Amino acid sequence: VKERFDAYFTAATPKSLAMRDRARRSLVAPAHLDRYFFPSAYPLFIAGGSGARLTDLDGNEYIDLAGGGGPAVLGRGHPVVQEALRSAAATCNVNALGHEPEVALAELLTDAFPGADRAVFSNSGTESALHAIRLCRVRRPGARRIAKFEGHFHGFSDQAMVSSWFRVAGPRDAPEAVAGCPGTPAGTVRDTLVLQFGHPRSLDILRRNASDVAGVLVEPLPTTAGGIDRDYLAALRALCTELDIPLVFDEVVSGFRVAYGGVQTLTGITPDLTVLGKIIGGGLPCGALVGTAEMIEYGRTTGDPFRDAEERGFLGGTMSGNHLSCSTGLAALTHLRDNPGVYADLERRTELLADGMRAVAAEHGVPMRLRARHSVFSLAFTHKDLPYFRDSLHGVDFRATTALAYWMRMYGVYLPELHAFLISAAHTDEDVASVLRSFDRSVGEMKA
Ligand code: PLP
Repeated sequence: VKERFDAYFTAATPKSLAMRDRARRSLVAPAHLDRYFFPSAYPLFIAGGSGARLTDLDGNEYIDLAGGGGPAVLGRGHPVVQEALRSAAATCNVNALGHEPEVALAELLTDAFPGADRAVFSNSGTESALHAIRLCRVRRPGARRIAKFEGHFHGFSDQAMVSSWFRVAGPRDAPEAVAGCPGTPAGTVRDTLVLQFGHPRSLDILRRNASDVAGVLVEPLPTTAGGIDRDYLAALRALCTELDIPLVFDEVVSGFRVAYGGVQTLTGITPDLTVLGKIIGGGLPCGALVGTAEMIEYGRTTGDPFRDAEERGFLGGTMSGNHLSCSTGLAALTHLRDNPGVYADLERRTELLADGMRAVAAEHGVPMRLRARHSVFSLAFTHKDLPYFRDSLHGVDFRATTALAYWMRMYGVYLPELHAFLISAAHTDEDVASVLRSFDRSVGEMKA
C-alpha cells in the first residue's frame, strides 16, 4: 500500500511533497497529525479554497471534509465574510481598543444563547476554556478541582488536556486523571476529576466529590459520541444546580453548527457558562466565553486594579476581541441568523452522507462505526459498539482510518486523518454523491 501511495503522491503532488520537506526544516508539525502511523505521509499544502473545494499547490481539487477543523460552516471564503474582511481591513483594524463590531458580536452571542447575559472574547477556544475554568475557581475558592470528561477536548492547555485524548487510565466507569502529554504539572492532574461521559456512575462520583469541585466542563456534543445525550445532560444540569457547582458547556465545535446557538438551544438545557470559538470568528481567530451576569461578574473589573487583583479573575489578551476577527465573525453569524434553512440542509445532508457511507461499508463487508449528527462525523473501523469514549481507544484500526484519508485524496476528497470530519453549507447533494463514489472506490482499494 505504501508503494501505491508513494507512487501516486510523488506523481500527483510533487509541489506539496517539496513543501513538506521544506516545512520539516522549520516547522514542528508541518501538516496536522501527519507524524502518526505513516512517518513519510503525504500532507497537502493548499493554494486556495472556495466553498466546499480546496485546491493544492499542484492544482488538484478536492471536496473539503476538513472544514478547517470547524470554523468553515459556510464553506471556505464565503462572500459575506470576504467582504467583511476587506472592509474591516480597509477601515479600522484595531486591537486592544473599543470598536463597534466587538459590541455587536457580543450582542449577537448573548441574543443567541438564552442563559448568556455577557460575553468576553479571546483568540481561541483554548483561551476561553481557560477563562471559564478561572471564573469557576474564583466563584468556589475552597474547591480544588475541575471536573471534566474522559476524551472531551477543551484545547491544548495543561488543564484541559488531562485525560482528553489518547492517554487514559483507571477503570472505564471511574477513570483516573492522567496528563494529556508530558510537561504537565502533577498538581494540574491532581486538580482534575475525570468522569466517563454518559455513565451513570459519573454522577455519583461527582456528588461524592462535590465539595472539592469548582466547576464541571463538558462537551455537550462529544465529537466521539456522534449525538446529543439529552437525558444525561439534563441529569448533569440538575445535579450541578443541586450541588451549586457551575456547569460549563464547551460549544466550540457545536456552537452555531448544530443550530443557530448550540446544543443548549436544541435541548433547552442552559449552562452557567459557554465556551465558544471556531465559527464565531468567521474563519479568523476568535474565542468567547458567554454566561450569566452572575458568573461573568467574577471576571469583571471593579475599576480599582488593587481590588480586582484581590477579587476578580483576570480575563485578558492583547488580540482578544480584535476588530478583524469580530468583523468576520459578525458577518458569518449574521448570515447564519438570517438564513436558518442552513441548519435543516446540513442535517439532511449529514444523513444522506452517513447513510450512504454505511451502505457502502456494508456492501464491502467492512466493519465500520460511523457516528454522524449535525454535520459532524466520527468514523472508526471496528466491529465493536462504542458506547463510551474509552471504548473508542481499543480494538479500533487507526491505521485504516489514516489509509482511508490517503485513498480518498487519490479520489478527490480531502478527509482529515484521525480527526472528526465535517460538512458545510457549501456542500451540495452532488458533492455528497461524489464523496460516496470516492468512499466506495477507497474502501474497495483498502480491501484489496
Ligand atoms: N473545545 C473543543 C470542543 C474543541 O474541539 C477545540 C478544538 O478543536 C477546542 C475547545 C480548542 O479550540 P482552539 O483550537 O480554538 O483553541
